[in-house]
Amino acid sequence: MTENETPSPLRVPVILAHSRVVGLIGWPVEHSVSPPMHNAAFEALGLDWCYVPLPVRPRRLREAVEGVRALGLCGVNATVPHKQALLPLVDELTPAAETIGAVNTLIVEEDELLGHNTDAGGFMRALREAGFPPDGCTALVLGAGGAARAVVYALGGVAERVTVLNRTPRRAHDLVEDFQRRVPAHLAAGPLEGGVLSEAASEADLVVNATPVGMWPEEDASPWLEEVPFPPGAFCFDLIYNPRETRLMRTARTAGAGASNGLGMLVHQGAEAFERWTGREAPVKVMYAACEQVLERE
Ligand code: NAP
Repeated sequence: MTENETPSPLRVPVILAHSRVVGLIGWPVEHSVSPPMHNAAFEALGLDWCYVPLPVRPRRLREAVEGVRALGLCGVNATVPHKQALLPLVDELTPAAETIGAVNTLIVEEDELLGHNTDAGGFMRALREAGFPPDGCTALVLGAGGAARAVVYALGGVAERVTVLNRTPRRAHDLVEDFQRRVPAHLAAGPLEGGVLSEAASEADLVVNATPVGMWPEEDASPWLEEVPFPPGAFCFDLIYNPRETRLMRTARTAGAGASNGLGMLVHQGAEAFERWTGREAPVKVMYAACEQVLERE
């Protein structure tokens, strides 16, 4: 199959004795698009690899991580609720995983487990692909959870200023305190409230939604406060990808701003993991197509 052909994400890979195995650990893992996305990518490049969902209960994480090594897997992705809990269970962390405080990709090298985080790189690739070059920008990030930490890590290396506003302001302040020494951008924190949002919005070139507000099935919700006008010159990047257009994205577009959903981040965090495991450039178009087919079915 060429990169431009649409793969069928439900095709079962042929697994042979020498097939390489990677997978996804999480609890639950049933709704993840990662298995069809990666399997379509392996098939497109003719790689004898397969990606399997691995439901791991939180209390079984330590055994599961040893199992990854013991069973000869090449690596795994990790999702909720294991990303933070993996930190002390690996042999080495990349600077991204250490600073963000979460591991979403394990790489097995010579029996050693390397913990990495591809959310930050995935976000940055997706943002540039969406047509927004973040170098020197003033960014406003809504939310201070795990995804926001990856976003602030990524933007902190290239933006001039990053303001983090959160429903629980303490968490935003903790994030900024944690990151301030580690990234060159100037960081600020505050509550996700009208006056503060209004002031931060007036200076922002980029608005990132790193909260789940607006995600299916709560599609009518938005983290943006109605009384605050969306800055028309800013670009809106919503990490949510279901629905494909969130209420926040509509607000941004109505104000004349550009907007992107989080599908690109999902694909590119997967692409970076794929490249770390296989050493091959990821077939990004194939991965997009696989995700789109799965999401259309939902
Ligand atoms: P998380 O660690 O649970 O953090 C959630 C954040 O959202 C917190 O800051 C929380 O504020 C805030 N929040 C939750 N409900 C809120 C509400 N009703 N009003 C205002 N703020 C609210 O979650 P996460 O892992 O960071 O994920 C955040 C979002 O990013 C999710 O939608 C997730 O699917 C998405 N995501 C997308 C990708 C991608 O590849 N596109 C990757 C990672 C995550 P408090 O601190 O006050 O609780």
